[in-house]
Amino acid sequence: MIAKVILAAKSQKLDRIFDYEVPLLLLDQVRLGVRVKVPFGRKNGQMSGYVVALGEESDVPAEKRKEIQSVVDDAPVFSEEGVQLAWWMKQRYFATLTSCLQAITPARANRVRQKKAYALIDSAGAEALLSGIGAKERRQREAAAYFLRQGQATAENARRDGLSSSALTTLVQKGILQTVWLEEQRQLPQAESWEISHPLTLTEEQAKAQQQMLSAKDHRPLLLFGVTGSGKTELYLSAIEHLLSQGKQAIVLTPEIGLTPQLWQRFTQRFGRRVAVTHSRMTQPERLLVWQRAAQGEISVVIGPRSAVFAPFDHLGMIIVDEAHDQSYQSEQTPRYDAREVALWRGEKAGAKVVLGTATPLVGQYQKALEGTYALARLTRRASGGQRPHTEIVDMGEELAQGNATMFSRALRQALMETLHRGEQAMLFLNRRGFATFVSCRRCGYVATCRQCSVAYTYHSRQQELQCHYCGQKAPVPKVCPVCGSKYIKFFGAGTEKVEQQAKRLFPKAHFLRMDRDTTAKKGSYHAILSAFARGEADVLVGTQMIAKGHDFPNVTLVGVMAADLSLYDASYTSAERTFDLLAQVTGRAGRAGQQSRAVIQTYQPEHYAVKCAARGDYEGFYSQEIALRQMMGYPPCGIFFGVLVTAETEEAAVRWSDVLAQAFTARGITVVGPGPAMHKKIENQFRYHVFLKGTDETALRTALWEETAQIDRKARGEVTLRIYTDPQSIV
Ligand code: ADP
Ligand code: ZN
Ligand code: ZN
Repeated sequence: MIAKVILAAKSQKLDRIFDYEVPLLLLDQVRLGVRVKVPFGRKNGQMSGYVVALGEESDVPAEKRKEIQSVVDDAPVFSEEGVQLAWWMKQRYFATLTSCLQAITPARANRVRQKKAYALIDSAGAEALLSGIGAKERRQREAAAYFLRQGQATAENARRDGLSSSALTTLVQKGILQTVWLEEQRQLPQAESWEISHPLTLTEEQAKAQQQMLSAKDHRPLLLFGVTGSGKTELYLSAIEHLLSQGKQAIVLTPEIGLTPQLWQRFTQRFGRRVAVTHSRMTQPERLLVWQRAAQGEISVVIGPRSAVFAPFDHLGMIIVDEAHDQSYQSEQTPRYDAREVALWRGEKAGAKVVLGTATPLVGQYQKALEGTYALARLTRRASGGQRPHTEIVDMGEELAQGNATMFSRALRQALMETLHRGEQAMLFLNRRGFATFVSCRRCGYVATCRQCSVAYTYHSRQQELQCHYCGQKAPVPKVCPVCGSKYIKFFGAGTEKVEQQAKRLFPKAHFLRMDRDTTAKKGSYHAILSAFARGEADVLVGTQMIAKGHDFPNVTLVGVMAADLSLYDASYTSAERTFDLLAQVTGRAGRAGQQSRAVIQTYQPEHYAVKCAARGDYEGFYSQEIALRQMMGYPPCGIFFGVLVTAETEEAAVRWSDVLAQAFTARGITVVGPGPAMHKKIENQFRYHVFLKGTDETALRTALWEETAQIDRKARGEVTLRIYTDPQSIV
């Protein structure tokens, strides 16, 4: 028997199948999906590997084949489907098979530890003890009562709960309790409440969408396009309930930040212990436990962020991607997979329906729905009856012209005053993405932009110049606005702290909470701040887009967007789309409970289509303008756009090899953008440059990428590292 083994090596060169002989002794242990130790190379150094197939045949002559040394796992850690998925991911994301298998497989837990515990074996005896009265036996009575309630408890827990260990020993001697050794069961996190909730009567719109979700005839993925509060989550629950009754299983993906205690509670209230949650703060053993329970069919629903898409279900009936437009589905580490694409792949393999739920589809998703590649279900009304907030756009250039140079327009100040006066809450929102600083005119709204790439120039304070982060084009910083001649042209940037300060000065009596990367650095503080605000412990919450998602705040009747511009010019072709999404989300935070509510969007770009359409709640209007722009520029979904990140220890090497790469692509007739420096040109002493490719023939681009990067890998001899991005907007 021959095992086909993938070595756990980082190098692309070793990333292929090696044939190993299975020694007789290991015949029944070597199975597809286990890890093994094998000898490798001239010196036969030991390496780990994954068994991805077993067979009788090999192209390697028998005398050259080496033997597997040992087997690491007693049970497979991935399946045949996992191997196929890994091959697909390798091709699609330019990754090594090993890294793909690692992404699919949770790391192995250490040996299970045994824990001392006590179990009640004589409950009649325990009850008899309870009726005793002697003061000396008080500790024993406590313990008896405890075990009558609990049945069993670890020694550690019993001690924590204040039981005396000598009393426990006595009860063991009396034959009421018994000592047992438990495998250390790591608890899956549990929701606070186990109350059972029941399905609601669906509205007409919802019922139609549900039919589409459960349709056995239509195998297409479904874009569930519904405004916030229209009942998408309710539909997930009812569809999954239906599937569970047929013995099927479901995966629900949410952005990490959208996985609120409320959401989880809604699922546990409907499905009890059949649902498990995963999140990125979980330890490997905890995650492994979820994986094992899923594989054994003990749980039927897994909720979690992108890695939950790999949950090992055999009877997968549905994969739901909530907030399907969210950027966090794109992995930032190798393999840089997109969980939505993996979901579609698994859905097709397993014959499971994939549901993409969102209030603001990506233009690429909506395009597929219009073409008919996806089925489309629309939910246009808020189920709870609340109204869209009355939304107002304020031109900050006009404010300036009228002599108001503060961050608060008169309209926002007035609205805030009224809200506080009524004892209601407000959210002030700074939609900054963090990286780019752009230059704009505060009078007329002009923004310094690279014409060729249609993205804003980024201001570099050290060199005092502007640079395009797509093509590398440089430009001087203008002293006066080239459009209106104003001197109020400067780089744009503002922090939540400054917003809070100014707001406090305007409203000294109000209570404020602030939420940004600084205040949420501590674990758990994100939810702590939001819960405090939900409990009404502050009047105003100031924050970045972190506050746009999750939690319901019924008492919030005003949302203020401090500067819509901040996300409009973050030097990426998806800036307008993200701005529309953020504005729609954040204004949707107000008015959930049906009160009359308001949103104020401050901007220097009151005419920008992303701002105007978001204020009107006009997705179609936004879509048609955005898709026209993508078409014109050849950006996805209207063209293919890939990137290569070139990192090196010296800037000279990074630039030189980027040029070589760019020339090689140009020679193949491919449109090259750049090379240019990455947004962060130097990270951890590595210089970073990138080359972008544009085109329409995906296969040709992919072939060129594989071949040319391999070529440079060989020639550069370790001088540079190349990484291919199928999502170049995430190179920062
Ligand atoms: P979404 O996920 O689209 O934001 P939810 O499913 O959270 O929407 O629904 C918003 C609110 O409306 C929830 O409180 C939910 O319980 C309620 N809701 C949804 N559908 C119905 C319905 N058919 N009847 C009554 N209430 C509903
Ligand atoms: Zn101007
Ligand atoms: Zn450019």
